[in-house]
Amino acid sequence: MNFKRIENQALSLLEKLRLNRIPVSVQEVAVKLGVDIKPYDLGQNVSGVLLIHEGKGTIGVNPNDSLVRQRFTIAHEIAHYVLHRQKTELFVDKQFSILFRSDNPSTAELRIEREANAYAAALLMPVKLLQKQIRSADFNLSDDKGIKKLAEKFQVSEIAMTYRLTNLNLF
Ligand SMILES: [Zn+2]
Repeated sequence: MNFKRIENQALSLLEKLRLNRIPVSVQEVAVKLGVDIKPYDLGQNVSGVLLIHEGKGTIGVNPNDSLVRQRFTIAHEIAHYVLHRQKTELFVDKQFSILFRSDNPSTAELRIEREANAYAAALLMPVKLLQKQIRSADFNLSDDKGIKKLAEKFQVSEIAMTYRLTNLNLF
């Protein structure tokens, strides 16, 4: 699947659910998709899981992670639910970082994790809302404080925001 399509899919989901405002409520997205979210402590290496049982999705999120981390995890698991739930019934996400320091995953695995991260970023930082913020407010993106303020607006980590801005060529 190409990333342009993932971008459009995430955006149309937000529009359909009428949740395209910041900070995007990933909880509400899950609720409206009929997916439950539960705290799930599977050890410090696991950020989140998605379990599909008889078509019903349940997301488990590590309650010890920071709020922005938990939001990214939920968005990532929503992505697996939307894009990949036909493939398998259990997704376990270790401290998947957007940097992918994964221990040698297969190409197929890597691809679905990339797709899930791209979808999660598009869900949490919709391109139009991002452009609007950058235009309307005085975010100086050449300094760290500007990135920090923008990240706070969207309730994402600064690193996630930095990646997003880089991928969208918004610097
Ligand atoms: Zn994943």
